[in-house]
Amino acid sequence: MKTIRPIVMKFGGTSVANVDRIKNVAKIIIERKKQYKYVVVVVSAPGDTTDELIEKAYQITDNPDKRELDMLLSTGEQMSIALVAMALHSMGCKAISLTGPQAGIYADEAHTKARIIDIDTRRIKKYLKQDNVVIVAGFQGINPNQDITTLGRGGSDLTAIALAAKLKSPICEIYTDVEGVFTTDPRVVPEARKIDYLTYEEMLEMAGSGAQVMMARSIEVAKKYNVKLEVKSSLVNKPGTIIYGSKKW
Ligand code: ASP
Ligand code: MG
Repeated sequence: MKTIRPIVMKFGGTSVANVDRIKNVAKIIIERKKQYKYVVVVVSAPGDTTDELIEKAYQITDNPDKRELDMLLSTGEQMSIALVAMALHSMGCKAISLTGPQAGIYADEAHTKARIIDIDTRRIKKYLKQDNVVIVAGFQGINPNQDITTLGRGGSDLTAIALAAKLKSPICEIYTDVEGVFTTDPRVVPEARKIDYLTYEEMLEMAGSGAQVMMARSIEVAKKYNVKLEVKSSLVNKPGTIIYGSKKW
């Protein structure tokens, strides 16, 4: 039987911040599915949802229980997966949403900063074979106590890259609100220049120097498993920045 090697597309919070953006994301997914038969999508919570949920927790108590904080924060991503699935359905595309636990993402017990231990991809593959776009909630997994744990701020990148590694994806596309990785932040410096190619090491250096494009820990995982990344915009259709092992290929 032919092995299933889906592409992974990850959409950050700004890409799913409102209904129009969610519909736009669905259109991008449908375009991609014409080229790649199998598509796995990872989404973050809409806009500032995660910050707002944290704020609420701290309005109730100075010391929220970490298990309950994870229970709360994981709801942001659940809104996004259901809405993206509905948007795809409305455009005639088969799709199914899965929470981290439903997608088989096993994490350790470190609430609010868990690591992914393993991913059981059987359920994802089953739905892919049935021609579904599979939409997975980023930033969450299930720990050995069957509790939801979150993976640290920006953790949807980690979900996407871990899935791409496990599923041997040809590429993991990271969609955001900028056109790629820039020499400096284009939202601050207008003459910033987009970089076409970066090695993992260069990307790690940029993440360390404060460029908030991707979660630094997720780039380490991409490097370890040689996952090819492309950081690109969900708002303009242009090539983004490719991040891979070597620049000369
Ligand atoms: N929603 C989570 C956060 O804001 C995870 C993510 O966006 O990747 O940190
Ligand atoms: Mg977020």
